[in-house]
Amino acid sequence: MADAPRTVLISGCSSGIGLELAVQLAHDPKQRYHVVATMRDLGKKGALEAAAGEALGQTLTVAQLDVCSDESVAQCLSCIQGGEVDVLVNNAGVGLVGPLEGLSLAAMQNVFDTNFFGAVRLVKAVLPGMKRRRQGHIVVVSSVMGLQGVVFNDVYAASKFAMEGFFESLAVQLLQFNIFISLVEPGPVATEFEGKLLEQVSTAEFPGTDPDTLHYFRNLYLPASRELFSSVGQSPEDVAKVIVKVIGSARPPLRRQTNARYTPLTALKAMDPSGSLYVRTSHRLLFRWPRLLNLGLRCLACSCFRTPVWPR
Ligand code: NAD
Repeated sequence: MADAPRTVLISGCSSGIGLELAVQLAHDPKQRYHVVATMRDLGKKGALEAAAGEALGQTLTVAQLDVCSDESVAQCLSCIQGGEVDVLVNNAGVGLVGPLEGLSLAAMQNVFDTNFFGAVRLVKAVLPGMKRRRQGHIVVVSSVMGLQGVVFNDVYAASKFAMEGFFESLAVQLLQFNIFISLVEPGPVATEFEGKLLEQVSTAEFPGTDPDTLHYFRNLYLPASRELFSSVGQSPEDVAKVIVKVIGSARPPLRRQTNARYTPLTALKAMDPSGSLYVRTSHRLLFRWPRLLNLGLRCLACSCFRTPVWPR
């Protein structure tokens, strides 16, 4: 007899990676999953429902969930049959880009409330059940910015570093309960997330920021960032395919980067544990040789290095 479908709860499914992942899991040919695709604002469920098609109401249900609210988390879990989640995917996230001097502390706290404490809140809610049943899988949509800092993304990267430290620590204890943790680390992904963010910041004022920093941000960082997304950016579909594999794996990995084209950039940090190679190379490429940076990105994009993109 086939195993009962595993209940997969995903946060942030109104768009991007969360939407794609929910749809791919719901269409699993072996019907191994029942997906609870959640979103903060149910008014935005149209795109998900359209993409889910016949899976809607069968292998996929839509539910309201604001990861920043205890009540919303409790309410959502109370609606799940048996209240048991086999796989939790912490996907909901917000970004924050810009010169530090021009960003409010409230905006920074919102990034931590959503990206870090939102994930912690959900884990606290599902963990007692997983421990009782001695099984579970917690997947975290982290970022390559959880592995290395990126200029003008200071607070966003800090929130992803926090997730990496938290979940790596928890992974050791949870193995004793047969519960696995997987940190998935996408590079740039062409979703609303970055598109909207870059559009907003290109016209934002950033009060209190000196003219030199504003010049570097607007005239060096923003064009380089756009180039990065158009050259080595992945689609949400490709990132979701990697996460589907991680969820289906008998021995899930603790870490999985999704974009082999981006790996040369993360490798710099691993090559020199002092960190100087990464910081100095990034500094030179952005501030001294931006044309070389563009050329390098185009080389990575046109497969000069013949690096395959996961999943193979
Ligand atoms: P997205 O903006 O399409 O998706 C983020 C989702 O989170 C949205 O549906 C949004 O409504 C939701 N969300 C925000 N605050 C929430 C809250 N309080 N409660 C519930 N949902 C909330 O962008 P995406 O790229 O699909 O982002 C998904 C994840 O991938 C995020 O954690 C992001 O940090 C990560 N990521 C994105 C990129 C990228 O370049 N787009 C790269 C690496 C990692």
